[in-house]
Amino acid sequence: DGSSDTRAFAAFRSVTDLRAKGGAVRIHGISKSFGTLKVLDDVELNLPAGSVTAIIGPSGSGKSTLLRAINHLERVDSGFISVDGELVGYTQKGEVLYELKEKDILKRRTDIGMVFQNFNLFPHLTVLENIIEAPIQVRGVSRDEATALAQELLARVGLSDKIDAYPRQLSGGQQQRVAIARALALRPKVLLFDEPTSALDPELVGEVLDVIKELARTGTTLVIVTHEIGFAREVADSIVFMEGGHVIEAGTPTQILNDARHPRTRAFLAKVL
Ligand code: ADP
Ligand code: MG
Repeated sequence: DGSSDTRAFAAFRSVTDLRAKGGAVRIHGISKSFGTLKVLDDVELNLPAGSVTAIIGPSGSGKSTLLRAINHLERVDSGFISVDGELVGYTQKGEVLYELKEKDILKRRTDIGMVFQNFNLFPHLTVLENIIEAPIQVRGVSRDEATALAQELLARVGLSDKIDAYPRQLSGGQQQRVAIARALALRPKVLLFDEPTSALDPELVGEVLDVIKELARTGTTLVIVTHEIGFAREVADSIVFMEGGHVIEAGTPTQILNDARHPRTRAFLAKVL
């Protein structure tokens, strides 16, 4: 009943207050439906600060919705979420236990970066302008400071020579590396990638994965929805397999990829490996 939800939330919250700062993501029992379709069903996840998590699973299994819930782009129907110590919580019946205000949600999104399949760069802005826009507008950083950071980030993603180019002048792989630099310019504690290489020609996938690999060592919490199983094996601390809105299984790459317990995980891997 409602009072057991309240007690569970109090327990969740006290742990959150103690150790969720610094980019930890904790998810307890979240569900989300669109009409009669249950897209997330009692999802449970604990991602320590600085960890790298790969989410795999068939199309339609709820992976993007889960990322959107972490980013507060999607309000869940029930369950608790804490991202870097910020909470939302709803009872099983969908009653609000704790909810961020609209302006706090906007603030949260600046601390949680997101990189999409289709890059989503502003086509009418140069690479530099794409990167400095948010730090100046959202964070109130000076233009000089934002430009210096952009130069540093472009060097990190290997695109210093493209600073004045427009997105249409770049390959897909280069655009995605700019999109990653743009996300990093807000110094996020948590960075979410939704199939970052799915729209790329095969020969451009490696350069984007290499950039993400570099990030895996910087202490930012990374959550990467990907079909690149070899990459997941190499960089992820844990792999989460989703199907039909459920987390079917989660574990280390070795556990999931070599020794999956669940037949559904094994069936999926047999198809993609
Ligand atoms: P995945 O990223 O694993 O492919 P999604 O999270 O995008 O899965 O979608 C899970 C299911 O929810 C799909 O069946 C999708 O069609 C449905 N869905 C996603 N977003 C919406 C929405 N805004 N309205 C209705 N259905 C949606
Ligand atoms: Mg998706």
